[in-house]
Amino acid sequence: MSKPVIDYDECIGCGSCAEVCPEVFEMDESVNKAVVKAEDKCVDGACDEAVDICPTEAITLVD
Ligand code: SF4
Repeated sequence: MSKPVIDYDECIGCGSCAEVCPEVFEMDESVNKAVVKAEDKCVDGACDEAVDICPTEAITLVD
């Protein structure tokens, strides 16, 4: 199963990924970046939605 990886140089901390896929992503407010808290918990393709919605294309899914 694909696992999401965040490019922290690209993440602008918008919070969209954590909104559409809260099981996998959460915001680290101290650095204003998203982090992957549970890479294997994606349900119903929400990670794909997070990849699509990320404004800076910071999220990739790796095998
Ligand atoms: S959607 Fe992209 S830019 Fe926004 S918090 Fe998530 S990884 Fe960062």
